[in-house]
Amino acid sequence: MGDVVVGASADRLAEPLGRLLGPRTGNALAKLGLETSGDLLRHYPRRYSEPGTLTDLSSLAVGEHVTVMAEVRQATVRPMRSRGGSMLQAVVTDGTHRLHLTFFAKGAGALRMHEHKLRAGRVGLFTGVVGEYRGDRQLTHPDYRIIGVDVEDADEALAEASRPIPIYPAAAAIPSWRIATSVRTVLDPLTPADLPDPLPESVRAERGLAGLHEALRLVHEPETDADWRRGRDRLRYEEAFVLQAELARRRARAAAEQATARPRRTGGLLDDFDARLPFTLTAGQREVGDEIAAELAEPRPMQRLLQGEVGSGKTVVALRAMLQVVDAGGQAALLAPTEVLAAQHARTLRALLGPLAEGGFLGGADNGTRVALLTGSQGAAARRASLLDAAGGAAGIVVGTHALLSETVQFADLGLVVVDEQHRFGVEQRDLLRAKGTTTPHLLVMTATPIPRTVAMTVFGDLETSTLTEVPAGRSGVTTHVVPADNAAWTERTWRRAREEVDAGRRVYVVCPRIDADDAPVPGGGEEAGDGVDLVPDDDGGAGTPRPLRAVTEVAEELRSRPVLADVAIGVLHGRMAPDEKDRVMADFAAGRVPVLVSTTVIEVGVDVPQATVMVVLDADRFGLSQLHQLRGRVGRGSDPGLCLLVSHAPPATPAGVRLATLAETTDGFALASVDLELRREGDVLGAAQSGAASSLRLLRVTRDADLILRARGDARALVDQDPTLATWPALVAAIDRQLTGEREEYLERS
Ligand code: ADP
Ligand code: MG
Repeated sequence: MGDVVVGASADRLAEPLGRLLGPRTGNALAKLGLETSGDLLRHYPRRYSEPGTLTDLSSLAVGEHVTVMAEVRQATVRPMRSRGGSMLQAVVTDGTHRLHLTFFAKGAGALRMHEHKLRAGRVGLFTGVVGEYRGDRQLTHPDYRIIGVDVEDADEALAEASRPIPIYPAAAAIPSWRIATSVRTVLDPLTPADLPDPLPESVRAERGLAGLHEALRLVHEPETDADWRRGRDRLRYEEAFVLQAELARRRARAAAEQATARPRRTGGLLDDFDARLPFTLTAGQREVGDEIAAELAEPRPMQRLLQGEVGSGKTVVALRAMLQVVDAGGQAALLAPTEVLAAQHARTLRALLGPLAEGGFLGGADNGTRVALLTGSQGAAARRASLLDAAGGAAGIVVGTHALLSETVQFADLGLVVVDEQHRFGVEQRDLLRAKGTTTPHLLVMTATPIPRTVAMTVFGDLETSTLTEVPAGRSGVTTHVVPADNAAWTERTWRRAREEVDAGRRVYVVCPRIDADDAPVPGGGEEAGDGVDLVPDDDGGAGTPRPLRAVTEVAEELRSRPVLADVAIGVLHGRMAPDEKDRVMADFAAGRVPVLVSTTVIEVGVDVPQATVMVVLDADRFGLSQLHQLRGRVGRGSDPGLCLLVSHAPPATPAGVRLATLAETTDGFALASVDLELRREGDVLGAAQSGAASSLRLLRVTRDADLILRARGDARALVDQDPTLATWPALVAAIDRQLTGEREEYLERS
């Protein structure tokens, strides 16, 4: 991207603000990340203050930078006895609550101007950082603007006093109204010709949307509430449309590539595999399997997202796709986000395949293949063997982590890339793998957790989606309880329950948010198995004074000393351990040699130990809903019922308590994902990398704007159908470049 020519008028949007508004204002705006006139015009008001409506002053938090509308109650200048200067103290009010304004100066004269303006009964906007003095909220040296005074003439004052007042995301360096003035200085001389519109005329007409120039005027200089709403609607639609246009373009680009058709062959490995499957496929697995089989048979690369309920059996679906490709003479690569998962996948696939995975070995099936494992930390000999199997084609399936992307890894004929638990692999990495095939490999992406439809449309919009909603029959399911952490009897009962399960030959997971006492809480609780659609919510559930979070090493010690767990081997697993050590611990756990495993969320995704029946999550309120759902999906996978105990200090009536209760009541992952989405902030949903200020989605909310996103997607796809590269839409391409640069693009790349 980047070599876009939008004509001479684009220059008007690239003008440095310092040149247009002077270096002082330019520098102040730069602190908000605004460098060019285009940046400033896209710095939309956060809200609008209604003239005559005062801000509720009761909600001001100390330390916060605020802009409030309030009425002056009084202002007095008086000398300061101790320091020799003067001070002006004013009080403003919303009618009920009061806010103090304080100005200091050497002499009283310097304060007269303020005193003159701050007359009782006048209404103004006041901005500054909220402080506290003797129990009163106060602003020290606030910037302010008195309605009907700080404007040039009476007409303007009157007009100003009756219009909605845009309140901009501001900073101490520049108050909201100076941003408003700056915007006007930049916007007023511009004409529609200076502002190329990314939305095609036809789309605007169809949807009844304002043009770009008009929309910017409406949001920045509205005369009525209806004005800014109309402007905002158009700009919101634009955000959705620009994003969807880029996704549609990527989709079209991929569809235009050549892939090798890998049609299903009868009498091959896949048939043998199906014949030896110890269970019957669910209807969903069959259906999705057929969909994938048909796409693999095409000479176009499949681009498919497979999402499914936890435990719905995505692995088998992926394996069957891989076998179809192997039967057709190709190879499949399976990318996992962590070494633990990669190793486990290799084990699982080999176990599922049995003799079919022993191609070339004594006792292996005649038509068998091999599953090779490639990770960064494996020994030189094992690595060399895997590399040979991959390059020579002896391994039909190569499982690995990022190590698979390294240049030394060659494939004989890579036909399919399966990305498990997608979050660690981006388009670039996909491209690296693709480059290893002679034609573009088919692509299957699997998500860790169910994700709501709008998020799928926004984040994975360039992929077709298949969904497994059904969990195989015969599962006993999981019962979930919230356990109050401060109740000693309950705690005792929890560990006794763990003991009972161990005695019955089953396994127990204990998950903590930290590794050890010095460890900062793992961000998102998601250690190395990071899950981009799942962050810890901000609220601490009003849990009161901070208490140290439970840590793996400390909890392991505690459990070892509990009489009820005497003689029970207790293992420890976390991301700071060496990979081979992690493998060993997992293997010991799976085999039952160490039936209790205390760990971080490394085990969050994908780990599959059918004998595991109990999942205890300590400080459960520190984890997101989807993440907890994923964790509880680790138990109840076999024929024995699972039990998930969410141990938390959060009182039931707090948001954190409600979240946990919701989880205990809801077993449907898709329903939970929607609730989760509503409970969290947008930035969290769209990715950890995306912080508020840098977010390009300023007006769009995937939680609320589902219909709009759907419409925008339809419009964008129709446009891309006619012009797959968008060559005839330079303004749209420029908008894609602008909107999707920086962190947002990084996030898209990660999909
Ligand atoms: P997920 O979709 O969460 O990745 P997995 O693929 O790990 O789920 O499958 C969970 C477990 O269910 C595995 O042990 C797998 O062998 C088993 N399984 C998969 N499909 C079926 C089926 N149709 N019937 C019974 N068990 C199944
Ligand atoms: Mg899985």
